[in-house]
Amino acid sequence: MKNRIHADVLIVGSGLSGLSAALNLAERGLKVTVVTKEAIDVSNSANAQGGIATVSDFNVDSFEKHIQDTLTAGAGLNDIEAVRFFVENGPDAIRHFEQLGIHFTENEAGQLDLGREGGHTERRVVHAGDITGFELIKVVKKAVLLHPNITVLENHTAIDLISESKFFFSEDNRVVGAYVLSDRGEVMTIIANSVLLATGGCGKVYLYTSNPNVTTGDGLAIGFRAGVPVVNMEMIQFHPTILYHEKINSMLISEALRGEGGVLIDKHGNTFMEKYHPLKSLAPRDIVARAIDHEMKMSGDDCVFLDMTKLDGDFLQKRFPNIFRICLNGGIDMRTMPIPVVPAAHYSCGGLRSTPKGTTEIPGLFVSGEVAHTGLHGANRLASNSLLEAAVMAKYVAEEIAEYTSKTKPSSYEPPDWDSGNAEDEDEKIIIKQNWDEVRRIMWNYVGIVRSNKRLERALARLELMKHEITEYYWNFKVSRDLLELRNITLVAELIIRSAMKRKESRGLHFNIDYQFKLDTIQNTVVTPAEIL
Ligand SMILES: Cc1cc2nc3c(=O)[nH]c(=O)nc-3n(C[C@H](O)[C@H](O)[C@H](O)COP(=O)(O)OP(=O)(O)OC[C@H]3O[C@@H](n4cnc5c(N)ncnc54)[C@H](O)[C@@H]3O)c2cc1C
Repeated sequence: MKNRIHADVLIVGSGLSGLSAALNLAERGLKVTVVTKEAIDVSNSANAQGGIATVSDFNVDSFEKHIQDTLTAGAGLNDIEAVRFFVENGPDAIRHFEQLGIHFTENEAGQLDLGREGGHTERRVVHAGDITGFELIKVVKKAVLLHPNITVLENHTAIDLISESKFFFSEDNRVVGAYVLSDRGEVMTIIANSVLLATGGCGKVYLYTSNPNVTTGDGLAIGFRAGVPVVNMEMIQFHPTILYHEKINSMLISEALRGEGGVLIDKHGNTFMEKYHPLKSLAPRDIVARAIDHEMKMSGDDCVFLDMTKLDGDFLQKRFPNIFRICLNGGIDMRTMPIPVVPAAHYSCGGLRSTPKGTTEIPGLFVSGEVAHTGLHGANRLASNSLLEAAVMAKYVAEEIAEYTSKTKPSSYEPPDWDSGNAEDEDEKIIIKQNWDEVRRIMWNYVGIVRSNKRLERALARLELMKHEITEYYWNFKVSRDLLELRNITLVAELIIRSAMKRKESRGLHFNIDYQFKLDTIQNTVVTPAEIL
């Protein structure tokens, strides 16, 4: 593989958003290169269990109801036009996937079997058993790998974008490619007419997360360094129910289990959710996560439990085959014993400022999926609205990129190769590991489910110290994936803290014990690169 390659479009990330956009663009005749950190099917998308929220049964459900549920969860911070855009595009996204060959689960009448999840007033979650993401990625991946216009580079990590002017804050800051760390440890220059960041969220910024290892907020950091502001980064969703097990990591116990009748209990078998919300175990995620956090802090227990034992055993096995099997392998038979669960970082509602169609304020730079802030989720994401966002955005961002490409001449600028200066092989991996752990621990302890001014100040002060050490490493040593990720999680952690400090209220996912009220004026939190870089 050459160290300098050209493409019409460079896509960073092979989740649902990146792969769907790649396919769409390739079908329009554009040459697409996809870079992805690990194997093509390692992503949050591939781990999604519950499904895609969309209105299917118009006899009982409606776009208005889906919009209203999204707005209720979003606690006033959603952009209503964006919500309408995504909700109304839902049925089309489902049709598209069906045409690609995905078989969503059907009921006995041969219609889509619709799941119900927290915050939804109707059954509207289209799913493929309890491995919806796996099935989606399997089918889209197959089409991508067969397409002659798409090249996929696995085990390649994007480092930073290349702009024509080299100065991102100048007027002609058009993005023309990216530097990418290859699977051989060399830095490649990929030149492209446009770049799409589809890098997902940032769960790994926290010690406990449902996200896979690749989810280190790289795209957020890369886009921010390139000049795109971030919006509402304090709105981190903690999933209430991750399996608490000494050997099984990051295993999500889908909300759909509570949708089907699962009930949260403490170790004595007592229910507790009635103290927190009228919807009890099916309350919105932020309420359930905070309630569990509170119960655990009050009791000193390591976890709470999800009781499925009142449901029919055959139904459980049929409806949740994957979760059932994994629990059973870990010694938990959900037919007869409650499942131990804890909350963990799950989803980033904030992101790089963009339109619902994925355009940013930087020419040539587009975003799609969880990395973007479109206004859909507001202060809290409604369950299963994110695959909807990833799928719908992928279609429209492809249209935007195609249009941009048709109007824009390829850049004549030939960027220099990556300059590693006097870099040497770094041999003090321990310092990187130490800082990795420290950032994630600080975020979990001080910037987690419940925040306070003092905790946020402490977190920022510690992070500032580490930032200098990490920057020194970055410039003095040869880059590795660990070092790149550390640099990115540290920046993203800072963005979350600074955003949390700016919000002088508690709203949606952001709960600060020093401001336990909602302000009358509702506004987005914006952090711009000029403020901190
Ligand atoms: C366990 C779990 C269950 C979920 N269940 C649901 C659900 O049921 N319904 C729902 O709507 N949502 C669900 N979500 C959320 C949803 O899966 C994600 O929001 C969505 O899949 C994001 O898609 P994406 O394409 O934006 O990013 P992702 O699917 O996260 O893909 C990001 C890609 O970017 C790559 N990448 C990142 N950084 C770099 C870099 N520097 N260089 C190269 N490549 C890079 C990664 O390797 C990955 O391939 C779930 C999430 C998790 C973790």
